[in-house]
Amino acid sequence: MHDCVFCALLAGTLPVSRVYKDEYCTAFMDIQPVNPGHVLVVPNRHAAYLGDLDDATAAHMFQLGRRIGASLRHSGVRCEGVDFFLADGEAAGQEIFHTHLHVFPRFEGDGFGFVYGPEYQNRPEREELDETAARIRASL
Ligand SMILES: [Zn+2]
Repeated sequence: MHDCVFCALLAGTLPVSRVYKDEYCTAFMDIQPVNPGHVLVVPNRHAAYLGDLDDATAAHMFQLGRRIGASLRHSGVRCEGVDFFLADGEAAGQEIFHTHLHVFPRFEGDGFGFVYGPEYQNRPEREELDETAARIRASL
């Protein structure tokens, strides 16, 4: 047995406030919400990173996230917008290494936001953008 808190939640050995479950994915409440209504969507089978999922499960995870985002708007929780956030890797802010999609309501003045690093100030030339696009394309 590996030591994964989400696998323990999915197995029922830890308490969870579940929103939805089907054969591929489960959605449940984050215990440390950015705002009330913060839901996590996870694949039922352990996968550390998004790239470890098969396409069908990954697509299903995002489809479920989209549905939950839409339902948040009608759920009665304060919701003027919805953020979808997936941290893939430690440097990206991933803390639990069982891939998960955050879906949470946003509203004016909620205090959440991104902090941009110095690289954000750069405006690369078109040639550099094209080169980077080619590198990514080559590794697809
Ligand atoms: Zn897991």
